[in-house]
Amino acid sequence: MTSVIYSIVNSYATYVVAIGECGLDYDRLHFCPAEIQKKYFEKQFELAYTTKLPMFLHMRAAAEDFCEILEKNKSRFSAGVTHSFTGSAEDRDKLLSFSDMYIGESVSVTVYQLFSICVVNTIT
Ligand SMILES: [Zn+2]
Repeated sequence: MTSVIYSIVNSYATYVVAIGECGLDYDRLHFCPAEIQKKYFEKQFELAYTTKLPMFLHMRAAAEDFCEILEKNKSRFSAGVTHSFTGSAEDRDKLLSFSDMYIGESVSVTVYQLFSICVVNTIT
């Protein structure tokens, strides 16, 4: 799967501006357990690092684990924007302590969806 993603990123490098959406959502544990989310969140840093792209991030009800994983991977993190933020003021300050990290407003159309639309429109 990873090689497929690299292939898509490379094939559409002109249009791909970030890796995402990545992150943790503990309000959606019925879709995916926390341990699985954490495992793949860490792997997504490798994709961002290899492609040298910023990350489009999602964090809901998972501030402690999110910031812990970000801290462990900060050498592979260049920049990012986090949406769906539901943390405390302390969580906000911790998140914004990472270099080139921003908190964004939640949107109904994600970068992934926009990218998918671009790929589909290009292919069809
Ligand atoms: Zn999201």
